[in-house]
Amino acid sequence: MKKYNFNAGPSMLPREVIENTAKQILDFNGSGLSLMEISHRAKDFQPVVDECVALFKELLQIPDGYSVIFLGGGASLQFMQIPANFLIKKAAYVNSGTWAKKALKEAKLYGEVIEVATSAEANYTYYPSGFEALVPADADYLHITTNNTIYGTQLRKDPCVAVPLIADMSSDIMSRPVDVSKYTAIYGGAQKNIAMAGVTVVILKDDMLGKAPRTLPTMIDYRTHVEKGSMFNTPPVVPIYSMLENLRWIKKNGGVEAAAQRAQERADLLYAEIDRNKLFHGTVDEASRSWMNICFVMNDEYKELEKTFFDFATERGMVGIKGHRSVGGFRASCYNAQTIEGVEAFIAAMRDFEARY
Ligand SMILES: *Cc1c(COP(=O)(O)O)cnc(C)c1O
Repeated sequence: MKKYNFNAGPSMLPREVIENTAKQILDFNGSGLSLMEISHRAKDFQPVVDECVALFKELLQIPDGYSVIFLGGGASLQFMQIPANFLIKKAAYVNSGTWAKKALKEAKLYGEVIEVATSAEANYTYYPSGFEALVPADADYLHITTNNTIYGTQLRKDPCVAVPLIADMSSDIMSRPVDVSKYTAIYGGAQKNIAMAGVTVVILKDDMLGKAPRTLPTMIDYRTHVEKGSMFNTPPVVPIYSMLENLRWIKKNGGVEAAAQRAQERADLLYAEIDRNKLFHGTVDEASRSWMNICFVMNDEYKELEKTFFDFATERGMVGIKGHRSVGGFRASCYNAQTIEGVEAFIAAMRDFEARY
């Protein structure tokens, strides 16, 4: 049976990206060696990194004066690497969900942290608004999480603030246009929208580096990786290659503008069904609804059907639809590779299930 992958991360990738990566794993560029066994310094691999950086810059229209680097450690390592490099005295954080809170916790290791806004009191069911005005003028930066993967809320505009802006875009990077010039740093684990797990992308404004008043371990100092073009130590070779294939796929399919259109189309279809269907309701405020992670629960009078619906949808090929334990219910993650066909299959399951009750 055909499977429809709604996993929240690692998540669905286009079939051709997987196939092309698999081919290179078997025989890299006809060298007779696997992508898994070549040196990252092999003359054939540098072009992979170069093309990845170039495509990243092209697709997100990254202005001059920015670097794109590929690291290990996940977005979770960035929770400490960002403050280590940028927090001088105090930083402002928007606490919009679990990941934002984790980022905030690590920043406290490096200085004063101001939580300028939060929706924690409402179990993160909306994206805090008006936080721009609450950022202290002397903050070293404002940190935001643009898409809250667990709760299904998203901020799709680039906030205007007078201090440097830093964003965790792990779960919506490359799904929509972003005005990179407004940011000092953008980071994301690649395993939601852009690659297999194992690589983290960091976009950095070069002239903001090297200001931290502390001695940084070599690996933690961003300058190390910027200066060596992500080749200071062994980068995650296969994940970077899978990202290259995916960036090519994004470009071929119209870039981030088209990706955003498709994301909105998928999300609109699914939210419309959630709103229409008597069994379900969405868990977040309409204005904050994410295009990436669509969260919903069973209405109270049908609560006991939750497991039955889960099994029903699973039998029809839906994978990864269980909501995170802090929300419950269901979560359909619709990253770049998600198809309208997948969303329609899910909607059909919701409708057919409704017809039984
Ligand atoms: C998944 C996720 C993370 C954690 O990413 P890792 O690469 O597993 O460390 C951080 N932030 C957001 C928004 C995420 O969705």
